[in-house]
Amino acid sequence: MSATRFAPSPNGSLHLGHAYSAIRAYDLAQAGSRHALLRIEDIDGPRSKPELAEEFRADLAWLGLSFEEVTPQSQRLDSYGAAADRLRDMGLLYPCDCSRSTIAKHAVTKGPEGFVYPGLCKNQNAQTVLARSPGAAWRLDVAKAIETTGPLHWRDMMRGPQITRTDELGDVVLVRKGLPASYHLAATLDDAADGVTLVTRGWDLFEATHIHRLLQELLGLPVPRWHHHALLLDESGKKLAKRRHSPSLKHRREAGEDGKELAERLRRCDFPAGISLVRP
Ligand code: GLU
Repeated sequence: MSATRFAPSPNGSLHLGHAYSAIRAYDLAQAGSRHALLRIEDIDGPRSKPELAEEFRADLAWLGLSFEEVTPQSQRLDSYGAAADRLRDMGLLYPCDCSRSTIAKHAVTKGPEGFVYPGLCKNQNAQTVLARSPGAAWRLDVAKAIETTGPLHWRDMMRGPQITRTDELGDVVLVRKGLPASYHLAATLDDAADGVTLVTRGWDLFEATHIHRLLQELLGLPVPRWHHHALLLDESGKKLAKRRHSPSLKHRREAGEDGKELAERLRRCDFPAGISLVRP
């Protein structure tokens, strides 16, 4: 089986940017005889609103896109915990209780996810960190992980062959404070479990893929291909966000707009005024 997926997080309504992403995934599935999977990424603590999953299903149906829904992340916590244990046993994770402000104060570089972690907890005794902060997050020691795997390759359908580089994100969090896993660990495990052979998502997640490729190697997971698609930006060059620009799909749907026609317009890159498609 080959499959691609659309994996929204239910922490806000979907907007045109999400519609574009869902259409890319759906059309790539159709073109390549792949399954089109919908995975609800609902492990964002209190930010996750379970009731939005129903809204998302209605939005996708309204756009004329039919996805097969797979198990939501909230029902896969055991697999995340087991993978984190494995990485911990391999000596590749370390606990970290640094606050955002501490990180901001000490960070030297900034990447696509914000400040690159300056390694403050890396050389501390894990028991000491856990004794003062039992619920500490766990970070991947990226340098040590790369030492274990050596350089890795992956392929993006738009930008071609890639070699893993991890300097942009640094030692990412894999187990969040009080939460079972971070996006990086959960999405990587899920794509493998769901049989995803083509990961479709926006190019804002391009750098994250280096980390995901590393995790696949460490955990012995299959390696898919990736399609990081162009992003819809507003006139100030920012990604669409409901609060700034884009009415939600729900709002459009409830106002009686024709969803299939909207999907056709997005396919033709016929966007509302002020919105443009930015290619990597
Ligand atoms: N859940 C992520 C989001 O809504 C997408 C993750 C992915 O496609 O890998 O931004």
